[in-house]
Amino acid sequence: MTPLERALRERIAAEGPISVETFMHACNEYYYATRDPLGVGGDFTTAPEISQMFGEMVGAAVADAWKRAGSPASAAYVELGPGRGTLAADALRVLRAAGFAGGVDFVETSPMLRDAQKRAVPNATWHDRIEGLPQRPMLLVANEFLDALPIQQHVGGIERRVTVAAGGLAFDRDGEIVETSPIRDEVAATIARRLLADGGAALFIDYGHSKSAPGDTLQAVREHRFAPVLADPGEQDLTSHVDFESIGIAARNAGAGVTPVAVQGDWLIRLGIESRAQSLSRANPDRAGDVEAALRRLTSPDQMGQLFKVIAIHSPDWPAPAGLA
Ligand code: SAH
Repeated sequence: MTPLERALRERIAAEGPISVETFMHACNEYYYATRDPLGVGGDFTTAPEISQMFGEMVGAAVADAWKRAGSPASAAYVELGPGRGTLAADALRVLRAAGFAGGVDFVETSPMLRDAQKRAVPNATWHDRIEGLPQRPMLLVANEFLDALPIQQHVGGIERRVTVAAGGLAFDRDGEIVETSPIRDEVAATIARRLLADGGAALFIDYGHSKSAPGDTLQAVREHRFAPVLADPGEQDLTSHVDFESIGIAARNAGAGVTPVAVQGDWLIRLGIESRAQSLSRANPDRAGDVEAALRRLTSPDQMGQLFKVIAIHSPDWPAPAGLA
């Protein structure tokens, strides 16, 4: 039994069943604090770890918004849950080439990942919470951040909980599941209020759906495979699909501009990833096969191209980043 499972069982014995939201929060807090989960040797691989092209396209998109907003010198590059810092390093190369000289702020709770981020982007400033970010225009990026934030599940209007039954962790009810995530909506609203007050634009990229719909999307991943969600708490990555409609509504209600949701493949192609792949292949002919494989993985509908979605939230005074209608 994992140390966290023992603690959760004791808590359930003392206080009764815990919500899926509490369970997910406890699991991910432990999980991210105790390892670097990314890459072939870890549990999962994200888009920026597949190819530099991903971060470069993100950099091009935010550089475009920054330039069209008049290139404000006070703007900062901000990332939520920057992982190993790979996306930031690739995006910042493009932003710096476009003349951006602003600072870098990271919101990250894991000490281990902060160390990795420091190696990739030595001059960043770290924050525990979004509320701690400095009040200045932001070019904000969050890739696979929202999926790790806790969700609630409801069955027939009753919140689903985790209990102990037949000697193991179990859900207290089954049936048609409706998921909500007040925490994700609050992140979107908080960012929207910041953009409204100080200017800027934010890109959220994640797996999920453009329209709210019922369904159980809670999933656990370990060593690049799906696993039962209640198994080995704290030792596997627990996420769910992001409801982009809900994120958009939360940001719009807070007064920010919100773009339509795009699928990742279309978005990257509109930003020019295919010509970037061609020039990388020409410069390194012996790596052309790898570049082509990465391009397919990021853009093909049967890989990450369709399941992954993108939405931008922006100050009403700022343009939406390129690639989103
Ligand atoms: N964006 C990176 C990493 C994605 S993994 C990439 O694309 O590779 C999720 C990231 O979010 C990790 O850096 C993790 O430590 C961070 N994270 C998870 N929950 C968080 C929270 N509540 N507050 C801040 N960071 C969090």
